[in-house]
Amino acid sequence: MGARPTPYLEGLNPEQRRAVETLDGPVLMLAGAGTGKTRALTARIAHLLNSGHARPNEVLAVTFTNKAAREMKERVAHLMGTGADGMPWLGTFHAINVKLLRRHAELAGLKSNFTILDTDDQVRLLKQVIAARGIDEKRWPARQLASLIDGWKNRALTPAQVPVADASAFNNKGIELYSDYQSRLRDLNAADFGDLLLHMVTVFQAHPDLLEQYQRWFRYILVDEYQDTNVAQYLWLRLLAGGHRNICCVGDDDQSIYGWRGAEVGNILRFEKDFPGAAVIRLEQNYRSTGHILGAASGVIKGNRDRLGKTLWTDRDGGDKVRLIGHWDGEEEARWVGEELEALQGGTRGGRPYSLDDCAILVRASHQMRAFEDRFLTIGLPYRVIGGPRFYERLEIRDAMAYFRLVISPADDLAFERIVNTPKRGLGDKAVQKIQRAARANGVSLVQAAQIVLAAGEMSGKGKTELTRFLSLLGLWHAEVLEETHNHIELAEKILDESGYKEMWQNNKTPEAPGRLENLKELVKALEQFENLQGFLEHVALIMDNETEEGGAKVSIMTLHAAKGLEFPAVFLPGWEDGLFPSQRSMDESGQSGLEEERRLAYVGITRAEELCTISFAANRRVYGQWQSAMPSRFIDEMPEAHVDVLTPPGLYGGGYGAAAGSKIESAAMSANVYNSPGWRRLQNRSGARGTSQPQESRAPVIDMQAVSAFAEGDRVFHQKFGYGAVLGTEGDKLRIAFDKAGEKHVVSRFITSADM
Ligand code: ATP
Ligand code: MG
Repeated sequence: MGARPTPYLEGLNPEQRRAVETLDGPVLMLAGAGTGKTRALTARIAHLLNSGHARPNEVLAVTFTNKAAREMKERVAHLMGTGADGMPWLGTFHAINVKLLRRHAELAGLKSNFTILDTDDQVRLLKQVIAARGIDEKRWPARQLASLIDGWKNRALTPAQVPVADASAFNNKGIELYSDYQSRLRDLNAADFGDLLLHMVTVFQAHPDLLEQYQRWFRYILVDEYQDTNVAQYLWLRLLAGGHRNICCVGDDDQSIYGWRGAEVGNILRFEKDFPGAAVIRLEQNYRSTGHILGAASGVIKGNRDRLGKTLWTDRDGGDKVRLIGHWDGEEEARWVGEELEALQGGTRGGRPYSLDDCAILVRASHQMRAFEDRFLTIGLPYRVIGGPRFYERLEIRDAMAYFRLVISPADDLAFERIVNTPKRGLGDKAVQKIQRAARANGVSLVQAAQIVLAAGEMSGKGKTELTRFLSLLGLWHAEVLEETHNHIELAEKILDESGYKEMWQNNKTPEAPGRLENLKELVKALEQFENLQGFLEHVALIMDNETEEGGAKVSIMTLHAAKGLEFPAVFLPGWEDGLFPSQRSMDESGQSGLEEERRLAYVGITRAEELCTISFAANRRVYGQWQSAMPSRFIDEMPEAHVDVLTPPGLYGGGYGAAAGSKIESAAMSANVYNSPGWRRLQNRSGARGTSQPQESRAPVIDMQAVSAFAEGDRVFHQKFGYGAVLGTEGDKLRIAFDKAGEKHVVSRFITSADM
């Protein structure tokens, strides 16, 4: 074969080249942020194909997000040209395993058109499972069971494999319910997220011949962000790489941020033991960030004891120091960021004009996004929300999707339950229960059962007329899918119109209704990128980012978790307050591991920035209608002074924002509390700012966010008598909770369980 051009090797440093060119045998690239791991991984794929080592379908590359997969595909296609050979298998663990499981569904007891459940469906199904065992769901919430089961699935444990040590879980019923749940899923021909991997691991283990076939097929395996793989993913990789051992993993132990979801940083630390003789490649030059940004990030991560430790350097001198600014409250913070973004575009800040596409706001908790979204909508600043499945989690979107699902697969009982009476069709709980009973008695789907109920004359009045109409519409839509009379976009519009769903929102006079209609429009727009509804539904089930790109520059808003692997010239990191970041939960935990994970998250955040990094915090935050005071994040103090520039907070000193914000007395009390605190004074000394008008009064009760409790403000909780609610604050051993139904109450914390997922 003649020498082909190798543009992808250009500019790589010697260690990166080694990672690209060591094609056979195990390779581990273990290096800090921004050192070019992902770039080297992409070049490696190009090199595998270009050098003739592998055909595209013999390469399996796992990325952490769909966005990363898409980018990598584009880069490889760009480097290679789109040959007839097709593209490598390139996607997230979930995306790849959906494909595999559809092929081998029968080996897992499913049909190839199985439905993928989202969290909501999962919880609804678990409620049924719990009720079927006569357990009081109020005492033993389905969400708690969901997280228990997810945890087992992350560890690749089938019900039979759950260790005895876990037998006491969920009132000694956890394992039994897990087993019930799995058989219900099979009956429904459905899988949840955790199943995608668990089923494939189980299938491979039970069918060595099949595994061998795939080992021969996927001759080269590549994994990005390896530090965040969980046990199930790890087992899956080990199975597939078992024969040839051509596996290349890249990662950074300092960026392991998914421990809470079962990721095991130990996987990366154990790589050399698992794959003896592995080539270990360390990269030390950071190409992404300026020296100040890198210096601040390194200072923070040094606070962790449990780490390998790495050298990182950059030749990008100069530039702005990391900017630090305190605000009165979250709204003021959002307002200020909005102004900064405008100044950045105008070039009056940061040395050069920035496009909004260059800018990102990275938040610790997704609820922080709201203030920014509101502010940007007000001033007309274009933004996009990336990462969390925000858009597809919205109520109206979920309803619409349930319609689509039901039209595609009429046996999708969960979808049926969701929308049979949305809009109202006079089919209350009683009618639905009747249908459910008929379904159980006849062993059929709810749609079929509804027909039986109607035929038996068991319905009357509005319910009967409407149900008949609904079923006949369903039948018509389903026929259209089969006959392809309309394209899927027209069909989707038809469904939303004829079902009366759109009309329901048109007639709705609440302030949210117009937004919901906008979202439905967006949804139909999103369909354009897909060939059919099925493909779209699959995409949404898997989606991790929801950018609906339509021209024009936009600032990106996302969680720190979603920002992993990405980079932006200008990054804003708001909400650096103890209790928010690090989270209250991590601070309350005994031991350091939660706090260390938060610190890694801070490191990930700072190292996303190329040129300009701005950290901010607010002294007051409104949580569920209550003002709470906060202290600047402990991570702020960990950044070396030489790399930090403290900006004077606007409004705090003579600016008069106090008068505008909420209850004056309460705010004043809180500001006194905060600004007399040691943390704040340290900051003041640094900046040289002088407080001239600090309120002295301290009358209103201030919720002390440092109080020790297993719950943090904002947590969803459950109380046997009062039901669900949200924690407003902690006071000693008592929690102040806003219950959804019972209103605000003080309750002793040991009577509270988490309603968390
Ligand atoms: P993270 O740990 O955050 O995922 P990473 O190690 O994967 O970071 P990349 O995203 O691959 O780093 O690279 C960071 C930036 O540095 C990118 O803009 C990339 O194009 C650039 N880069 C990587 N290697 C080189 C190089 N040899 N010369 C110049 N620029 C490089
Ligand atoms: Mg990377």
